[in-house]
Amino acid sequence: MKKSFYKYIAQTSDAPLALEIERAEGIYFYDTFGKKYLDLIAGISVCNMGHSHPAIINAVKEQAEKYMHLMVYGELIQKPQVELAEKLCSFLPASLNSVFFVNSGSEAVEGALKLAKRYSGRKELIHFENAYHGSSHGAMSMMSNETYKNAFQPLLPDTKAIRFGLEEDLQIITEETAAIIAELIQGEAGIRIATTEYWKKLRQRCEETGTLLIADEIQTGLGRTGKLFAFEHYDITPDILLLGKAFGGGMPLGAFIAEKKIMNVLTHHPVLGHITTFGGHPVCCAAGLAHLKLITENKMWKNAEMIGKKLETILWNIHHVKEIRRKGFMIAVDFHDKEINFKTLYSFLEKGLFSDWFLWCDTALRIAPPLIFNEENLEEIETILKY
Ligand code: PMP
Repeated sequence: MKKSFYKYIAQTSDAPLALEIERAEGIYFYDTFGKKYLDLIAGISVCNMGHSHPAIINAVKEQAEKYMHLMVYGELIQKPQVELAEKLCSFLPASLNSVFFVNSGSEAVEGALKLAKRYSGRKELIHFENAYHGSSHGAMSMMSNETYKNAFQPLLPDTKAIRFGLEEDLQIITEETAAIIAELIQGEAGIRIATTEYWKKLRQRCEETGTLLIADEIQTGLGRTGKLFAFEHYDITPDILLLGKAFGGGMPLGAFIAEKKIMNVLTHHPVLGHITTFGGHPVCCAAGLAHLKLITENKMWKNAEMIGKKLETILWNIHHVKEIRRKGFMIAVDFHDKEINFKTLYSFLEKGLFSDWFLWCDTALRIAPPLIFNEENLEEIETILKY
């Protein structure tokens, strides 16, 4: 299997972990040698209710038996889409009341950028330094890492980067700006957090200039940060909300959500201004609905904050830790040293702890376990770390 993996599967780096996984359940997965791994990153913030949750599996099976793909998104009434959109909106501010389903996070970003340009009639798009919004052309244009970007130029014109959390840069947002896209807690930058005052000022600057605020909650959404959505921490409402990752409960699903009057501009001039064949696939929506019900009925965000805090205390016992940045179960354990970080990562792997680093912060370990991680698991990890 390994030989064929290297031969036939397109590789993203020269050093993939190349573990062959047999099965996954709860917070664990198992390789083909029977070795058990405690999943400390939940498929990078995807499996918030853990792996192979029976309610999600049932929802997938039931929907697959009724129908799978029927027709491109938007033409036919498909119950799983409608139910998921309705349920989602019941947890959102009244202005976020129209859901456009797509297949992934990057696609949600693309849809939102198009929507903002079309609605505002403006061209300029602003993003943050060290942001990550995806690997497609538009999404890549919204990040500042020149090494990545230069390899794929030309990207979108009329883009600008501002510094994260710095009020003085807010003046760069003007009447020319269609939208600013923000991760309310920066993920790939290594968990960077700004103040409530900052976000309120940013929201205010958007009001003053008629700029749309796009909140990329692809990584922060669905309970991970200690609230159902990260914008709730900061008492602001975005104009466009982006979801992906955990949204499909382990199936590929994304969405951009806005007020109906904004979303309506994609319906005319040109008609079918944004379409997708598989976006909002009924099986993915059924899984997403089952997942959203589990998260909200059990208020899983409360666990993320309470257990996350205790986990942070345990993580301080790792040798050479210099700094821990955390919001709920979004945690960066920073050694301020790349070599130590990778050494720790590989020693974790040997001990059966599965972790990762951050795209723009290779000195820190990524800790983002499923939200079902509990007191018993805290003891387990404490014991593992002792040896
Ligand atoms: N936005 C954020 C904040 C992300 O973390 C990611 C993925 N890491 C994306 C967008 C892109 O999502 P996808 O990989 O599903 O395209």
